[in-house]
Amino acid sequence: MRIVAIRERTVELSSATRNASISFDAMTASVIAVHTDAKKDGKPLIGLAFDSIGRYGHGGLLRERFIPRLLAADPNDYANDNGGIDPHRAWAILMKDEKPGGHGERSGAVGLIDAALWDLAAKATDEPLWSLLATQHGHANASATIAIYASGGHYRPANDIDALRDDVRRAIGQGHRRFKIKIGGASLASDIKRVEAVIGLLERSMSLAVDGSGTFDRDKTIQYLDALKPYPLSWIEEPVHPLDFELHRDIAAQSPFALATGENLFSRDDARNLLRHAGLRPDRDILQFDISLSYGIVEYLRILDDLGQHGWRRERCAPHAGHLLAMHVVAGLGLGLAEVAMDTSTLFGKLTAGVPVNDGLATLPDTPGAGFERTSVFSEVFGGLLN
Ligand SMILES: [Mg+2]
Repeated sequence: MRIVAIRERTVELSSATRNASISFDAMTASVIAVHTDAKKDGKPLIGLAFDSIGRYGHGGLLRERFIPRLLAADPNDYANDNGGIDPHRAWAILMKDEKPGGHGERSGAVGLIDAALWDLAAKATDEPLWSLLATQHGHANASATIAIYASGGHYRPANDIDALRDDVRRAIGQGHRRFKIKIGGASLASDIKRVEAVIGLLERSMSLAVDGSGTFDRDKTIQYLDALKPYPLSWIEEPVHPLDFELHRDIAAQSPFALATGENLFSRDDARNLLRHAGLRPDRDILQFDISLSYGIVEYLRILDDLGQHGWRRERCAPHAGHLLAMHVVAGLGLGLAEVAMDTSTLFGKLTAGVPVNDGLATLPDTPGAGFERTSVFSEVFGGLLN
């Protein structure tokens, strides 16, 4: 199988919301389609991927560096034994002549191509991506049905608490049982009101986590931990800067809550340093490396290998961002929890909105690949890239 063209474009993900760190007014993401000379059931075999959220599109890097590099490669150098494309071998081609360290934004560009190649590989074997991953790298817990949580609670410019309550009520109606909202974008007193507003809606089997988006200093973190202590939160996410491992160690030693972090570390190197130096607790804390932004599934498999060496189990992993790729990886590799966007009216939320949810569990459909073709926004998102 030969890659004959790779098409990409940047889409707007803008929404009038913010967390403690950034506003989403001008947010963008990249979409990609990898065209091959192969056909399946008479149709061209095309691998698709949609970016994660929060780091903007990767168009420049894709167009100038990584797409030309893959298109220039000898197809024998990325072939698998069955004449298909091996994402691991393609990954090595993408990373040729890339110096170690200093990962920057390239990890998101490579991750996007990696994701499209995995979608392609699963379509070639006519199975959902999670099933291919389970066969190749699976775990006893691999299953199409996964635990999920509804993530949202961003700050709105007006009627913030009412809108938050509406979001959570709607998500409960959709079958969600676990929720996460932002903190740190308002005063501590206002944040406590938001936490209480959501807890007031939850039934016994439901839970709430909070996310500081990496913005607190030590004093503010301690203040929040003290103030939140009376509430039954399932975790506190990124209270402090994602790369300050010493501060993580300090906070982990005194936090009554599980800590969740890792969504802003984009490589195996950074993940390993977190495990080595941040004092996280493998029996309760949660690792949220974003698969798409961290060089894709090929690199994520290496991160999972490292976890075992540091005493961690895959069940402590809850990859960042509600994208289909992460849901398939959670399902196929037996990870603990997947994130989905609570607000299903945004383009990003619509990509996962069609996956059925029941009692806090999502079941991935049998569609071959990652399943973009089944989403309500397929034509809108991928239409221009398919010819
Ligand atoms: Mg977060």
